[in-house]
Amino acid sequence: MTMESWNTPQRQDLRKLVTDFTTRHITPDLPDWERQGELPRELHRQAADVGLLGLGFSESLGGSGGDFLDVVVMTEAMLEAGASGGVISALFTHGISLPHVIDEHDRRVAAADVEGARYLAETVIRPVLSGEMICSLGVTEPDGGSDVARLRTSATRTDHGWQVSGAKTFITSGVRADRVVTAVRTPEAGEGAAGITLMLLDPVTAGYAPPRKLEKMGWWCSDTAELSFTDVAVTDRDVLGLGQGFGSLARHFVSERLSIAVTAYATAQRSLDLAVAWARDRETFGRPLITRQTIRHLLVDMHRRTDVARTYSRSVAQRYAAGENLVVEAALAKQTAVEAAEFVVDRAVQIHGGMGYMREVEIERHYRDVRVLGIGGGATEVMTDLAARLLGY
Ligand SMILES: Cc1cc2nc3c(=O)[nH]c(=O)nc-3n(C[C@H](O)[C@H](O)[C@H](O)COP(=O)(O)OP(=O)(O)OC[C@H]3O[C@@H](n4cnc5c(N)ncnc54)[C@H](O)[C@@H]3O)c2cc1C
Repeated sequence: MTMESWNTPQRQDLRKLVTDFTTRHITPDLPDWERQGELPRELHRQAADVGLLGLGFSESLGGSGGDFLDVVVMTEAMLEAGASGGVISALFTHGISLPHVIDEHDRRVAAADVEGARYLAETVIRPVLSGEMICSLGVTEPDGGSDVARLRTSATRTDHGWQVSGAKTFITSGVRADRVVTAVRTPEAGEGAAGITLMLLDPVTAGYAPPRKLEKMGWWCSDTAELSFTDVAVTDRDVLGLGQGFGSLARHFVSERLSIAVTAYATAQRSLDLAVAWARDRETFGRPLITRQTIRHLLVDMHRRTDVARTYSRSVAQRYAAGENLVVEAALAKQTAVEAAEFVVDRAVQIHGGMGYMREVEIERHYRDVRVLGIGGGATEVMTDLAARLLGY
């Protein structure tokens, strides 16, 4: 696959569609959603109507088809048209939760469990892809998030299924969620990582406490919740494979980390664009800022870091889409793109001067939003440690 594959006529059309959607349905209202602390459900339905919510998901399950590279193009275009990391995380939360439900759906199909597969398709997968329901992923706990194998929320067997007790925190879209794919400990399945199972929890079930909305440094339009469960009943058909949880999480971490890399370099590109526009417009000491060599060289440095991050991340994404297992490369892409984004956003604020510190300009939001990218989906240090182990260093 060549670099032209990012610019096929279909992907040019996709970029145009996303840019139109973003400037029409997102950027005008984003400041209000930031103040309200969440996205309206209507946006999910609108994104579904034009085929964006279901991008990368099979049409046979209510998705709009396309592959991982189409999702990359969509994310790039949305951020470059003025959306935000918070919008991406909240509107596409199902990108990290739904694959686990679909894996189990496919296992049921393979096992000729027609009813079980239909149950997942009709009550979760299709409603989420049509924007009617919101589905979160609950892994991180108040005691710790990096060491997934040690999570403590537990499920015990009952005559009718399972009872789940424990707590989750920092859960994206967890305030609005209609279902939470929740990682729990099931001792029946084994110890440590082998004992982790994913279960679908329904927030209206007795024992599921009202979500606590967390206030954050950035990503304001993306609601983040602390969740607490006391003997929450779960039926067997809401169990996504006994003991399969850790494997499923590890498998989908690659696409999650690559998606964070895309968010990072696309945020860097948007920030660079904003900085260039400002530097052309703003005059100091009688001349536009962009005429100063210091500023032009800084812009080149920002451009270089952004382009290197994009080129490497895209090449990993292409190999991943072609079927390679790229745990190390996804971790390194995330790190490379996050470093680029942190540098570029910081310097873009500097070029804006005092205005860069003001709530009324877009770059101020990116500065706050970008900070989470080196923490969520695997902290930078944990990624480095994983890469060191896998590379044998
Ligand atoms: C806005 C936001 C949204 C999120 N959304 C979700 C979500 O939807 N679902 C979900 O399950 N989780 C979510 N998370 C949680 C996120 O994945 C965790 O915060 C992350 O995995 C780190 O876990 P922790 O916060 O418990 O940090 P800890 O595990 O306590 O680690 C703290 C810090 O220590 C360092 N560190 C950790 N381990 C090592 C090590 N072995 N060696 C060296 N240094 C180390 C790292 O710098 C790390 O940042 C979200 C977090 C945020 C902030």
